[in-house]
Amino acid sequence: MKADARRPVIAGNWKMYKTTGEARKLALDIRNASVNLTAVMDIVLCPSFGSLPAVGEILKGSGVALGAQNCFWENEGAFTGEISPVMLADLGCRYAIVGHSERRTHFGETDDGVSRKAGALVANGISPIVCVGERLEEREAGATRDVVRSQVVGSLRGMSAEQMLAAVVAYEPVWAIGTGKTATPDEAQEVHAFIRNLLIDLYGLEVALRVRIQYGGSVKADNAAALMAQADIDGALVGGASLEASSFMKIVGYRTGGDKK
Ligand code: PEP
Repeated sequence: MKADARRPVIAGNWKMYKTTGEARKLALDIRNASVNLTAVMDIVLCPSFGSLPAVGEILKGSGVALGAQNCFWENEGAFTGEISPVMLADLGCRYAIVGHSERRTHFGETDDGVSRKAGALVANGISPIVCVGERLEEREAGATRDVVRSQVVGSLRGMSAEQMLAAVVAYEPVWAIGTGKTATPDEAQEVHAFIRNLLIDLYGLEVALRVRIQYGGSVKADNAAALMAQADIDGALVGGASLEASSFMKIVGYRTGGDKK
């Protein structure tokens, strides 16, 4: 069921693209085109770590939020190459993606690590965007629900109901990420409703109805409105189409038929 209290949240994951100069230009274009939209939805830009300060400067005071693509769970220490939630908060990040399938696949990220990161982020006032989703072979084997259940339970372990209110869950079927294949609105809604029911079991109805669940996986201008119209889809996590202001703004403007420039 769609709760009015759930503000849509659309996040752009720029992955390992864009130099700082390119990131600055993209952020500026999106900020300028978002002026009338931030009153009705949360828009989040997640550049690479190196561009966070520059993009943060551009977004300051705009209503478009800054997000990171990952973080470590300790606040400081001898963890070469990592960045902490304290540092992200210092840079003005309000969101951070954790458990993206690319991190699970290429960097061995586990549900246990994701849950620690999510907890550390919330403790530092940053909303974690916790990614879950099945691989193609798992879907074909009929294991989607088992995989998603185990990722949701494992990746949110230790989060209290109150902390959960600050979190966002992103359902991203791995077979749909960067492939141009999207889950149909019905397929996506089925898993979103399943996740919502898991959240009810874990945190109770009141909290579960307030947690936003994004869909991610080849979201584009032409499928955004149909996906977002689903009862339990509360926004999108966008990769490829977030790398150009025009394609990202068409998704962000889904309520107007995607005709925002
Ligand atoms: C992503 O990176 O989270 C993603 C959904 O990518 P894309 O939109 O390119 O499929």
